[in-house]
Amino acid sequence: MSESAAETCIGCLLWESGRAEIYESVQAHIEKIPLKDRAEDAEYDKRLSYCRACTHLIGGTCMKCGCYPELRAAFRTQRCPAKKW
Ligand code: SF4
Repeated sequence: MSESAAETCIGCLLWESGRAEIYESVQAHIEKIPLKDRAEDAEYDKRLSYCRACTHLIGGTCMKCGCYPELRAAFRTQRCPAKKW
């Protein structure tokens, strides 16, 4: 996927937007989150399902707050800036 396509991919998370380097960096950050602070797998998947259907998600970035939802959603206590999860 070209860089411009990745940047404009609406509804794509990092892993499917072609931004492999950033995706790998985000995954490395997630692995460093203590288990007690991480969202459960089912909750994580549910959160990202909301993001994938959200018009604020473009090229793997949440345009509402500028975060990478794959990272934000991994923290148990984090919330969606649009209150979707
Ligand atoms: S506004 Fe919420 S649901 Fe939408 S992409 Fe951002 S974190 Fe995900």
